[in-house]
Amino acid sequence: MNSFSYLEYAELVQNIIASRQYMDFSEVKRDTRDFIILRHDVEFSIERAHKMAILESMLGIRSSYLFQVRNDAYNLFSTRNIQAVQSIHQLGHYIGLHVHLGMLESKDQLQNFIIQDVEMMEKMLRIPIDRFSYHRPSKAILSLRLKIRGLINTYDDLYFEFRENDVFDDLTIKYIADSRHQWKYGYPDRTMIKSQPKIQLLIHPDEWSIPGYDSKKNFQMLRHEKKIEFINTLKTECDHFDQSTQFNGGR
Ligand SMILES: [Zn+2]
Repeated sequence: MNSFSYLEYAELVQNIIASRQYMDFSEVKRDTRDFIILRHDVEFSIERAHKMAILESMLGIRSSYLFQVRNDAYNLFSTRNIQAVQSIHQLGHYIGLHVHLGMLESKDQLQNFIIQDVEMMEKMLRIPIDRFSYHRPSKAILSLRLKIRGLINTYDDLYFEFRENDVFDDLTIKYIADSRHQWKYGYPDRTMIKSQPKIQLLIHPDEWSIPGYDSKKNFQMLRHEKKIEFINTLKTECDHFDQSTQFNGGR
């Protein structure tokens, strides 16, 4: 079985279901003793997020898909992407904002910055947005422990333990992520899931595919998928677009 394949992901999801601790962020309360929550930050490909959402729906789970609106890789509000996100929502998944902090001028404006982007998403996508996650948050951002009425902060202390001092060995909420195509905080197999009462799992749909690729090949395939998408756009928009045109420019 290839790493980061849908077969591997299906196994992972089945382990989560078997633990009987899987729930949504909204179901976690102060006195919840065991939980596994799952979120997806979408960095590059809405198409891959959509595919993962379909797979999860076939496996019988609902999770959270968080999208950027200040992203150079995709336009969340293109006709095709709006339809894809609406379809993810119709499959039963929750939709949220993945907050890119690049344009934030000061920490004091963070709450308004998020609310403004959430409202824009709701208007454009015509679906409820009730949660957010940060894209590469600094310690300064995490230490704010921001609470916004009506919005779930996936880094709230109900779901995530922020440590100023980088000491992580006695955490009561285990954070697991596949960032950079690596399991830096451990792999969520049956043993790990059994040994940790509280787990937040971050899975990036961009890292996963049906066959499963290593990091290098995955980047190649993402580039290829984006190229196909752009060629299709050119074909649709320009009747003078010559498909046989080959780019032979510099390296
Ligand atoms: Zn991110």
